[in-house]
Amino acid sequence: MTNEASFVYTEAFKNYKFRDDHPFNQKRVELTYKLLKSMNALNDQQIITPRVASDEEIALVHDRKYIDAVKRASEDKLAQEESLEYGVGTEDTPIFEDMHQAAAQLVGGTLTAVDAVLSGQTKRALNLGGGLHHGFRRKASGFCIYNDAAIAIQYIREKFDYKVLYVDTDAHHGDGVQWIFYDDPNVCTLSIHETGRYLFPGTGNINERGHNEGYGTSFNIPIDAFTENESFLSAYKESLTEITEHFKPDIIVTQNGADAHVYDPLSHLCCTMEIYEEIPKLAYQLANEYCDGKWVALGGGGYDIWRVVPRAWAQIWSVVNNHGETFSGSIPKRWLDQWQNESPVNLPATWHDESSIYEPIPRKEEITEKNAILVNKLLEPIRNEQKYMM
Ligand SMILES: [Zn+2]
Repeated sequence: MTNEASFVYTEAFKNYKFRDDHPFNQKRVELTYKLLKSMNALNDQQIITPRVASDEEIALVHDRKYIDAVKRASEDKLAQEESLEYGVGTEDTPIFEDMHQAAAQLVGGTLTAVDAVLSGQTKRALNLGGGLHHGFRRKASGFCIYNDAAIAIQYIREKFDYKVLYVDTDAHHGDGVQWIFYDDPNVCTLSIHETGRYLFPGTGNINERGHNEGYGTSFNIPIDAFTENESFLSAYKESLTEITEHFKPDIIVTQNGADAHVYDPLSHLCCTMEIYEEIPKLAYQLANEYCDGKWVALGGGGYDIWRVVPRAWAQIWSVVNNHGETFSGSIPKRWLDQWQNESPVNLPATWHDESSIYEPIPRKEEITEKNAILVNKLLEPIRNEQKYMM
């Protein structure tokens, strides 16, 4: 029998930990899991304990020399010059004990989610421990050691020859995944993110459209800093709908970073919980329409681990598990009581945010207009092609 949805989870996700004061904190996965458990929204039959990815699987995307370097770094046996060449031991991505094992566990989580969907065991699967979209073939970058999303896509390509649509709604450009499949016509990447003008990683320009045979299968929407819900959602919905119709994927993989929220300390977007209610709904709908429901959803960035990430990620599970429905009303008191003492900030008591959580943005109109122009420019080639075909 096919389950509607599966939730990949292990406490070992928390072993992916750079330092106590590092912004990337996998405690957010546990907070989300406990939030869902506190309201009986996740039953034990839906939870899958993930495997650890093998070296062969990691090597679907990453260079063997790089994997070897990460292994040596794990045991503190990597020389400094070499570590910098591989992007580890930096301020963003410091070396920690057993980092290879911890990173391979996140990859294993994503592959477990993919296996569950491809085997027909489940229609949709969620691995909030994954979504490390900045990892490159030979280099760690932006808190990401192994790029589980890219490994999973390559795994799908080799095992099933499916056309894969990758949708990245993290506030940062999904650069690692984009460059890895830049010349692959069977993998389409769409990333909506804050413009790289002032934000890491600096790429994700609208002109990055793919290379050689892959030209026309890479899409970027670099929205302005201070973009709000309405403009974010209109850009997301318009582009994703038209791109899906154009590309006709067999499966959708989403990276659901939750760092576009106004509370997030690492980005400058001004969205609220509304986008995290709407983003998964459209992915759900399009997966049903084009992919017989097949959808693998991953985590990603998200640095307000108390007020934003647990609510945002619990909503993805709600959509995945409840036929596109989101939670509304109050956050369970049991969960608030359990965590309020540990949280340095006041935990929100409702699922939905009021728009009054931030001051009105004076440049709202200008930003909205700029984003709309961008989307038109992005979709112009698809629309023209359609015109000729009619
Ligand atoms: Zn991010």
